[in-house]
Order: sequence, then C-alpha cells, then structure tokens
Amino acid sequence: MKNPFRIWFPWLLALAPVALLACASRPQADARQQPTGKPRLAVLVVFDQMRADYLTRWQDLYDKDGFCRLQTDGAWFQNCHYPYAATLTAAGHTTLATGCSPNQHGIIANYWYDRKLGDEVGAVETDQYTLVPDTGGKSLGAAPSRRKRLTIGDALLEQTKGMAKVVSISIKDRAAVLLAALQALICAWFNTTSGMMVTSTFYNGGNVPGWLTKFNKERYVDQWFAKDWTKLRPTLDYEKLAGPDDVKYEGTGYKQGKTFPHPMTGGKAEITKYYFKAMELSPFGNQVVLEMAKQAIVAEKLGQGDTPDLLLLSCSSNDLVGHCWGPDSQEVLDVTLRSDLLMKELLQFLDEKVGKGQYLLVMAADHGVCPLPEVMQAKGHKATGRITPDIFKAKTAAYLDEVYGDGKTLDWVESIASGMIYLNQKTIGKAGLKPEQVEQKLAKWLDKQTGIQKVYTRAELMAGPIQDDPIGAMVQRSYDPERSGDLIPILRPYYLISDSLSLKDTGTYTTTHGSPHEYDTHVPLLVYGAGVEPGIRKEKVIPQAVASILAEGLGIQPPKSVEAAVPKGLWKK
Ligand SMILES: [Zn+2]
Repeated sequence: MKNPFRIWFPWLLALAPVALLACASRPQADARQQPTGKPRLAVLVVFDQMRADYLTRWQDLYDKDGFCRLQTDGAWFQNCHYPYAATLTAAGHTTLATGCSPNQHGIIANYWYDRKLGDEVGAVETDQYTLVPDTGGKSLGAAPSRRKRLTIGDALLEQTKGMAKVVSISIKDRAAVLLAALQALICAWFNTTSGMMVTSTFYNGGNVPGWLTKFNKERYVDQWFAKDWTKLRPTLDYEKLAGPDDVKYEGTGYKQGKTFPHPMTGGKAEITKYYFKAMELSPFGNQVVLEMAKQAIVAEKLGQGDTPDLLLLSCSSNDLVGHCWGPDSQEVLDVTLRSDLLMKELLQFLDEKVGKGQYLLVMAADHGVCPLPEVMQAKGHKATGRITPDIFKAKTAAYLDEVYGDGKTLDWVESIASGMIYLNQKTIGKAGLKPEQVEQKLAKWLDKQTGIQKVYTRAELMAGPIQDDPIGAMVQRSYDPERSGDLIPILRPYYLISDSLSLKDTGTYTTTHGSPHEYDTHVPLLVYGAGVEPGIRKEKVIPQAVASILAEGLGIQPPKSVEAAVPKGLWKK
C-alpha cells in the first residue's frame, strides 16, 4: 500500500495557519482511562440534521433494539452542543472526523466565496478529480482538498501502517468525503444524475470494487419508483406527536406534495433524476446507505481482521426531509421512526457479522434545525419571521452609497455566500476608506434591522479571543480569515433568510440551520459497545470529542488537532 501520509495539500504542511483562538490545549489521554473491550470495528453513524430533543420527544416510540438499545446499554450524552456558530453539514462532518473546529480545519460552510477565484466554491468541489463511474461530463469529482486537518481515519491508517480499512458512505458527497480518510478504501455517495453510488478518482485511484459495480447494476435504488412514501405506523396519532400534516409554508419536494402519502416518481412517468431527487428526499435515501454499508461489511470483511477497521456512515435524508417539511412535521417524525429501525437493523447486522461486544458504535449529528417561523407563529411565538437576502446585498449597497457614495452608485458588495458578506475591497480603496471603518459602520446599521441579533466584523473577529460574548466566541470558532466574509451576521433566534416569501411554491427548502442557537447546536451523542459504561450523562460535551472517543476505543492516538478529551468514566473499569 502507498504511504498513507502522502501529503499533497499545502494545508497539511502549514501546521497552524493563523490560529485565531489558541486551540484548547490538546488533551492528553488519561492513563487511568482505557477501554476494557477491544473493538474489531468502530462505526460512526451521523444523522444529518437531528436535534437532541428528537430522542426525548419521541422516546416512547422507539424500538427496544433501536435507539433504545443505545440509550440504555450505551452512554447517552444529553448535553452535547456544537461550540461554533456555522452549524452546517460540511463543517459538522469535518469537526466529527478531525476533532477540531472550523477555524482550524477550514471547512467553514458548505459553500464560501473564494476571493482569488472570484467565485463561490463548494467544500469538496474539485476539477482535478472526476467521478467514477463518470456521469457524462458535467459532474465534477469531489476531494477533501480544502480540509486542513487530518481525520480519525487518517490517524488509524497511519498508526496501523495502512493495515486498517476505512470505508465512508453517504448520500451527500461532502458528508462522505469530509468524514473519510485521505486513503480510504472506499468513499462513496449518491449521484442524482446517474442514480448510482459514485466515488472520485481521488480515492484509490478511482478503482471501484466489483461488489459496488454490481450494487449499481442491480439498481437497488430504483425499487421505490411509483410507490408512495406512506406513514410507517399509521395507527399512531402523527398530528398529536408532531403537528398537522398540512402547514403553511411547508415544502412540496419533487412533486411529493405537502401531505402523506407522498408520491415517489419525481413527477415523471419514468425513472429520471427527479425520481432520484425525490428518493433522497424521503427515508429511502437512508436505506441505500444502510444497504451499501451491509455489503461493504461483508465484501470487505470489516471487523474480521487483526487490525480494527473504521466504518463512517452519514444518513442525509433526515436533513433533506427536515429542510422541506420542518422539524415539527409528520414527515420528520416518520423519517426519525424509520431511522430508529435503521439503527436496529444495523446493530443486528453488526451483532451477526462482527459479534456482540466486538464493535464500538457512535451515533452523532452534524447540526439541528430551526422550526418553521409559521409554526412558531401558530403557537403564539411573536419574535419569529423570514427576511429576504436583499438586506445583505441591495439594501446594504444602498446604505453604503448613502453614507459614502457621494451621490454615486458604487459596487460595495463583492459577494454573499452562506450568509457572509464579502465587501468589495477595490471600491473601499478607491473611496479612500479603511475596510474596518466601513465594516463597523455597516455592522451598526445592520444590527438595527429586523431579525438581526448582531453582525460581527472581520476587524473584531481578528482582534484576539472574544472573552465576554459567548456568541462572538462561537463565531470566531467558525472563522477562517482567508475564506470567511468581512461581516458575519447572526440572526435572532427563530428568524430565517428566505429567498422567496411567496407561498406559491415553497419547493424543497423551507427552513434551515447554521446559527449558534440551541435548536441548531444541540445534537444527540450516544456511544455504545465494546467497553462502554452505560448510563445517562448530563455533563456538557462537544462533538469534537467523537474523534477522541473513536481513537481511544480503537487503541490509537487521536488526530493531532483534537480539541476535546474523552469524557471521564466513558469506559467500564
Ligand atoms: Zn441541511
């Protein structure tokens, strides 16, 4: 095997490029704390967009062999919060894998504006690698080129001299890629153009195992076409447990409608990319991840060798369903109930193939989600609403013209990406102004606008650790001077930026996450299996601990950048 530490990213060579906050000093492994079991396989299951309260809210409904098994036989951390502001998919997955915050690993959002390129870039976007199988030209490959830190999988491969196997599977490319090791045996995700599980030439030279080719050929993903997504447990009172089925501003997905049953055709008579998009936007996307995981366990003999292996799974459908119908919808209840059964099936499969007590499983999430403002309003909560993004572009530019324009209309805003404002430095220079002066003036004005809690400026975020403002400190942990914008607006709780306030077609995106508020930061964390002391744990922990937990469970040193130690007492004495 090639040297797993073939380092070709400049980020990995530069050890600590402009660390804004001193990374919390690296915790040393507590010598007294060692897991008693030696797992042959460690499994990380990330539910993309799962709030911590889903576990308690619907606890009575879970199967005793599903989530309940983790809740009672595992360590259930009930107070796990992301300590940074940009609670987004790419950032969350990278944090779980590296054990550090976005200001260290560099994945500040799913997309940001690249000033040198003059364009928006995706976290795993690349034109250096292509998709395998190639979907016909337009789809770019994906690679972790922008991730600046190594992951738990990299640590495992380095310390086992490449003997371990690391497999990463998701529906979303960014989730699979950002969890995976550089030298992962398999890193695969779903492509809605081809309806296939794909990888990129970055991984394993683009070599795809025969079983994966067979998986694609057998068209597992087509099985739900023209079947409806119906309620898993029709005898339950979904309305009482979640909310009404038809709610103002709910999405309609890909011709899936607002209410059950949801058609699974994508609005076409034949299987097209619209079906694949509808399939992702239903619990069936997670079934694809599970089925592929099972095949990977068997075909690659995960957990069967002398060296422990690592399986990384990310279930994306929870996120897509949550964005479309919102956290208080019957659809989110249904996808969560089905996630419980997915966990049951996975645990049973691991019992059978790897052996009870022979594996360690961590269940986590990358972020939560904001309730629909319309649902909050219906409940009588007044401080909630939607604001249009022109506040940060057209209205911001108009304000700066008024203050500095001297009667002219100038080009003040270079870009807006993931809610960050990138000012046009040329315009500022030509007007004879200092960037910090413009930032501060604008931030003061924006602070007074509806729905805005506080706008942080580059100058403020670069001036050293923010001590007396917890939200400011969270924004700093998400801030990368090269990649982040000049102004970082933080909305008030329960406010959303919405492109369209019209109710005619609310599409697939009616709520979101990405704030430092509790509904976005508070996530489940459960640790189950080999050597884990069961129990409910109330202490505050951060998801950065996951990389440390996996490392200690596997008997290896964690990645160098980890910011959180293994919670004390996690392992049986
Ligand atoms: Zn999302």
